[in-house]
Amino acid sequence: MRTAFDNLSQWGLRTFSGSPFLIAGPCSAESREQVLATAQALEHLPVSLFRAGVWKSHALAETFDGVGNIALEWLQEAKALTGLPLAIEINSRKHLEEILQAGIDVLWLGARTTVNPFAVEELALALRGVDIPIFVKNPITPDLGVWVGAIERLRNNGIEKIGVILRGFVNRRPSKWRYEPEWELLQKFRQIFPELPYICDPSHIAGDANMVFSVCQEAMNRNFHGLMIETHYDPSKALSDVAQQLNPQQLEELLGNLILSNPVFQVKDEHNRLRQLKQKIDQLDMRLVEILAGREALARQIVQIRKKQTGKPGEADDRAQLHAKVIEYAKQYQISETYLLELFEIITSGTKATGH
Ligand code: PEP
Ligand code: MN
Repeated sequence: MRTAFDNLSQWGLRTFSGSPFLIAGPCSAESREQVLATAQALEHLPVSLFRAGVWKSHALAETFDGVGNIALEWLQEAKALTGLPLAIEINSRKHLEEILQAGIDVLWLGARTTVNPFAVEELALALRGVDIPIFVKNPITPDLGVWVGAIERLRNNGIEKIGVILRGFVNRRPSKWRYEPEWELLQKFRQIFPELPYICDPSHIAGDANMVFSVCQEAMNRNFHGLMIETHYDPSKALSDVAQQLNPQQLEELLGNLILSNPVFQVKDEHNRLRQLKQKIDQLDMRLVEILAGREALARQIVQIRKKQTGKPGEADDRAQLHAKVIEYAKQYQISETYLLELFEIITSGTKATGH
C-alpha cells in the first residue's frame, strides 16, 4: 500500500531509507557566505530539502525582513555546489516568477499566510498549473476551519502535491513552548486529511535550541513523516530566530538520537535493517554510559556532603525510597521488577566500588 511518506518520493523529492524527511537550513538567508557554509555543512546529512527564508514577515516592522531576491542567487549557488534541493516560503504572488526561474523545488505557505483565506486564495490561483509540491504550515491561530480551508483552496485550484507542516500556534496561556503544538487539534486535522505527508517544525514550536530534540521525538512518536529544523552554521550570529537554531553538528547528534517508531522508516532490506538497529543500540548504550557517569558524579557529591555532616562515610541513596521508585518504574515501563532491582543494586554499588 502506498503511504503518505511514499508520496514525497513520487513527487520527485529525495527521501533516505530509514530516515524522516528532513528539511534543514537557516531561518533566513542572510549572506552568501552564511547560505553556502550552512549548505556545505549539511551536505553529508540525510537532508531532503535545504530551507532558507528569503522574504520574512515579522511582527515588528523594525526586525529583519529578509534580504529578498538576491538570496535566490545564493540558494541556486548552494544547490549547484551541494546538490541539495531547495525549499522556501512564498508569501506573495509577486515573487512567483523569480522563484520559478530560480528552480526552487518546494514552496511552503507560512503560518501568517495560511491564516488568511484571501492570501491563500490569491496564491492558489497564482500556483495553478505550477508543478511544485506546496507545503502548508498551520495557521498561526488554532482555527481548524481556516487550516482545512487552505488545503481545500489549493486543491480546488488543481494543486495535488500538498504536504502539511505543524509549526505550532500562538499561546493563549503561559506555556513552555514558543508556539503551542496543539497535538489534539492536529489529530482532528489528520483525520480529515490522512493521506497527506506530515512534517513537524520543532524549531518554531520550541523556540529554544535545547528543547528542539524533545519536540522532534514527540513528533516521531506521533508518526510524523518528516521534520523541518532550522539550522545555521553559527546560530549565535543569526539575524532572526536566534535562540532556536541548531548548528549542523547539533543537528547530526539529534538525528542520531531520535528513536523512529513509524513503520514507514523501517528499512525494507534485512541486512540494512539489522545494521540500523545495531547502530541504534550502540547509540543507546553510549547514552546509558553517559547517564550512568552523570548519576555517579551526583552520588559522589551527596556522599561527600553526608560525610561532612556526620563525620562518617554514608550512602548516596535512600534504599527504601529507591526500592519503591524502581518498582514503580518496572510497572510503568513493563520491565521485569527483579531485573530492574538487580540492575539498580549494581548501579548504586558503583559509588562504593570507586572508593568514594
Ligand atoms: C520560518 O519558517 O522561518 C517562518 C517564519 O515560518 P512560520 O510561517 O512558521 O512563522
Ligand atoms: Mn524562523
